[in-house]
Order: sequence, then structure tokens, then C-alpha cells
Amino acid sequence: MDESAANEATPETFTKAPEVAFDSAATPPAPVRAHFPGEEPPAGLRIDDLGPGSESEPNIRQAWLGEPFDDPLAPGSVRCNACAHRCVLRPSRIGICGVRQNRGGWLYTLVYGEVTVTRAEPIEKKPFYHFLPGSFAYSVSTQGCNFHCSFCQNWQISQAHREGVVPESRNVTPEAIVEEAVAAGARSIAYTYVEPTIFIEFALDTMVRARAAGLHNVFVTNGYETPEAIELVAPYLDAANIDLKAGSDNFYRHVAGAMWEPVRETVVEMKRRGIWVELTTLVIPGFNDDPDELRALAEWIETAAGPETPWHLTRFEPAYKMKHTPPTPAATLVSAAQAAREAGLRHVYIGNAPEVESSVTCCARCGEPLISRAEFGVTEWNLVEGRCPRCKHALAGVGLADSPVAV
Ligand code: SF4
Repeated sequence: MDESAANEATPETFTKAPEVAFDSAATPPAPVRAHFPGEEPPAGLRIDDLGPGSESEPNIRQAWLGEPFDDPLAPGSVRCNACAHRCVLRPSRIGICGVRQNRGGWLYTLVYGEVTVTRAEPIEKKPFYHFLPGSFAYSVSTQGCNFHCSFCQNWQISQAHREGVVPESRNVTPEAIVEEAVAAGARSIAYTYVEPTIFIEFALDTMVRARAAGLHNVFVTNGYETPEAIELVAPYLDAANIDLKAGSDNFYRHVAGAMWEPVRETVVEMKRRGIWVELTTLVIPGFNDDPDELRALAEWIETAAGPETPWHLTRFEPAYKMKHTPPTPAATLVSAAQAAREAGLRHVYIGNAPEVESSVTCCARCGEPLISRAEFGVTEWNLVEGRCPRCKHALAGVGLADSPVAV
């Protein structure tokens, strides 16, 4: 993409949230039940697996994005199409994420409204630097995850099903989440901490109500959604921070138990649908810090997502199963950021490394400092109606017209 084309296209596309009418009557695809020969449950199926969930299990609901899967050896199998794993679940089996189950030939979510984390946080912490800067997001999470990253900082909730941990949780309705977000002064709800696709039913019910209440919706996601899942949430999804874990399929397969290609497709698809996208890469010494690979990743971002797509490079800290891997050296982050800028990216940030923190947003055209930050807050705002005061170039992002800094 040439520079002038990018500069002209960006403001038009992204200086406001997508215009989508609130549609309270919108209905997701109806769940489809797999068939048992003669409608008899297969031998060995326990009565508890026959579904639907009882009144005493308020978190168990029929799920979306399931379809019957013909397996002659396991009648009643279903396939979950929420994420790119596309798990085939025999009766009673639970998917890789640990929270979606085949009950009697129907796909169920096991965590509807069972939240493990709810809190208001600066949106810069997610991180979003170009989306409603200086505002608060109300974070929501369940347990479970479709990845099993060895370095997960939230493993007590994301890997609870693998680790035998029972995280603290509470039951809430989508309406209650929206009320809590409004009461907390948040301007958006962030579906975060674990991959939101795995609780897409609760997320989308909340997103619809949030939009009606004038709130925005953001995903902090590993990008492993299927196109079908993106289509479901896209009308209500304003922004996504997509975790680009590495620039190689090898890393995805060995460290996260996934593939890289679906993540790349999600980045492109969300951009195509007008969802504001920021990208984050946790740079891990010895795993994904190869300079050539990081440079190639920056080049891919520049080409596929555009030069004004923010890229957050963050420092790894020892965690979970990678407690003996050292933190990322500052020099690695600095040289990766420098290479990314040379590759054409205009908004490259360094996070979680105070000595080399790079959190100032500069004009993509002339380099004028536009937004300064400290400790996840906005400290200086030099934009004039979303534009650089010097060259008038519009900063790419959403909600940039008004300063969040008191004058
Ligand atoms: S959301 Fe869960 S059950 Fe569905 S495909 Fe992904 S990992 Fe499998």
C-alpha cells in the first residue's frame, strides 16, 4: 500500500465506530442436534450427558456454531465451529477449550454467565492506544481457553480444566454486566483474559445489550475465531487487540497448540469488516525473538493490515510453565521496534519495560507527538479534532476527536 493511499483511507474508515443499528431481534443460528440411529443414545452415554442442563446448572446452555458430524463409529457426534480447532466431539466429550460439550448430540456451553473476572481498567492496559484513549473498559472473563500457552499469565483461569483448578466465579446476566460497566464509568466492555470466542454466547448477548446502552465492545483475542464466529460478533464488535504470538507456524504448534494461518486470516477479516485492530506480540527470549522473524512479521503487518496498524511489543516475564526463561532484554525490544519502523509501521509501542517504554503516539506523516501516556493513563493530548496540529494528518483510530485530558 502506498503511503498517500494509506493516509487518506485511514481517517475515513476509523475515526468513528462502525455505524450499526441496534437489532434486538437479531437471532443467532439455531442449534442443530446430531442424530442417533433410531434416536437411541449410544451405549455408554450417561444420563447426565443427555442434556439439556437442569435448572440447577444455570451456566449450561445450548451453544451456537455447532453442527452434526457424521462419524460411523460415534453416532451423535457434533463439531464446534466457534474456533479454528473445529473440535469434533463425541457424545459427552468436551472440547479443547474445556468449556464446550456434546450433550446428547447438542453442543453446549458450560460457562454461560459464569464469570471469573470483572473489573474496570484503563483501556491502555488491554492494550488499546488508538481506541477511546483515556477511557475505562469493563473487563469480563470466564474460565477456559482454546490455546494452552506455556507462558500464560492467566493460567489459573485459562487452564483451569487442565490443571484441576476451580477458579472463583460468580453468576451474572448480560444485563447485569452492562449495568456494572455503566456504574463503573466504563465506555466499553472488554471480553478478555481468556479467549472470548469460547464464551461467544454470553459475550454476544452482552455485546448486544452493551451497544443498546451506548457502550462499545472490544475483544482481546488470540485471533483463532472462525469466519462464522467473526460474522456473528462483527455487527457489535468495535475493536480487537489480536495477539500475534509469533511469525512462525512452528511456534504456534509447539507453544500454543494451534496454527498461525487462522490468526492471520482473522487479522485480515476483522480489518475488512471495519473493526478497529491493534496487534500485540509478547517477545520471548529464545522462542520468538529471532530478529529476521520479527522483521518479517512487521512486513506482513504492514502489507496485510496497513502501516498505521498499532503494534505493541511487550516484555515477557517468567510465568506458568516458563518460569525459568529470563525476561526479555530491553535491547531486544528496542531493536525489534526499530526494525518494525524501518519495515514501514508507523505506530510501534514497547510495553512492560519501563526503562525503554515507548508509549507516545506520533503523527504517522510528520512525526509530531500527539498523545503521551504514563502508567496506562493519557498525560498529554495534542490532537485537534483527531488531527495532527502541524500537518493536519488524521490519526488512525476511534474516539480521537475529544481530549480525555482535563484542561
Ligand atoms: S471453541 Fe472450544 S470446543 Fe469449540 S472448536 Fe474451539 S476449542 Fe473446540
